[in-house]
Amino acid sequence: MSPVDHWVGTELIALRAAGLYRARRLVTGGRGVNQMVDGVHYVNFCSNDYLDLASDPRLATAAYRALTLFGTGSGAAPLVSGYNVEHARLEEELADFLRCPRVLLFSSGWAANLGILRAVLRRGDLLVADELNHASLIDGGRLSRADYRRVAHCNVKAFADALAADAGDVRRVLVVSDSVFSMDGDLADLPGLLRVANDFGATVMIDDAHGFGVLGEHGTGAPEYWFSQESTTSFFPEIYVATLGKALGVSGAFVAGSESLIEYLIQRARTWVFSTAPPPALAAAARVALNIVRTEPERRRLLFDRVRRFREGAAAMGLPLSASVTPIQPLILGAPQRAVALSRFLLDRGYMVVAIRPPTVPPGTCRLRITLTAAHTNAQIDGLIMALSDGLRSLRGAA
Ligand SMILES: *Cc1c(COP(=O)(O)O)cnc(C)c1O
Repeated sequence: MSPVDHWVGTELIALRAAGLYRARRLVTGGRGVNQMVDGVHYVNFCSNDYLDLASDPRLATAAYRALTLFGTGSGAAPLVSGYNVEHARLEEELADFLRCPRVLLFSSGWAANLGILRAVLRRGDLLVADELNHASLIDGGRLSRADYRRVAHCNVKAFADALAADAGDVRRVLVVSDSVFSMDGDLADLPGLLRVANDFGATVMIDDAHGFGVLGEHGTGAPEYWFSQESTTSFFPEIYVATLGKALGVSGAFVAGSESLIEYLIQRARTWVFSTAPPPALAAAARVALNIVRTEPERRRLLFDRVRRFREGAAAMGLPLSASVTPIQPLILGAPQRAVALSRFLLDRGYMVVAIRPPTVPPGTCRLRITLTAAHTNAQIDGLIMALSDGLRSLRGAA
């Protein structure tokens, strides 16, 4: 055995023993919610393609036009020669949509969160974060070397207590939270966070990966959900991150903020400065996606009709629903083996819902993370509920 095999080998054995071993599923065809995995058709209930834009031919057409004009790759980092007119237009259109001064594109949400946190915080600063924040915010916080306070989930008082205890004598204080928690679908109390941050002179950074395009009448995301679009400008978080790979159906991410924040990130966000700019074709596709988010609000209505149908049907069958009102609908099952068994049962019935286990979620809270999209039919949703109900019954029988 080579040294590296020795390093990782024992860990792999331990993961298998704990029921935490993971494997990819190979998508071999299909589009939208109808996916072919290893040659078999499934209805996908675990993507983040909430508005069904990832397979929209209008996005593909725009991407193709940009591919023929500019080629596949941007060729360089954005400060070198990779910054393309498609990137610039997308940034302007996003800023206009959000009514904020400026936007900067990143190649992923991971890159955005790491780059921003590392750039704006230093040793001795204070970062107060929800304990269920996305892994990229946790790693970004560590990378920043700021003092990291992890506080109880969705608990504004816990934020206030952490700020009261520690905010006094440090230089910069940042409150950071997901807006929609990716594995639970619940919402951070944005008004509460902005209020306590204001009380302690802290800045707020919000990761709206699952809210952007989905929440609010206009789809501008969590700030609109909480404040209505007219007043969002006065309540907009100082640092707002969202991704283009979820509701927008493409790939990449952006940060929205002030003129000087964006200028500073252009100088200092290392994941942006030292990374190849995304393909112009992705920006071209995202521009079309943004336009659809703007002009086809019926997609959001359909999406939330689906959410309602799922919740009502699941409640009628006595399924263990959470309180989530978003398209993310977790079914908490506890032990990893239960989540895996139910996921397998659903696969046999033609439904794809992957089991979520630690470290993605805390131990003992393994789950199926069901996501609804605008493209699911009522029959597919009703079929999933029946399969879940049968699957849970067979789990009980086996236990
Ligand atoms: C998906 C996600 C990210 C990462 O974005 P990518 O573009 O996929 O790297 C960051 N934050 C949250 C809350 C997410 O759900």
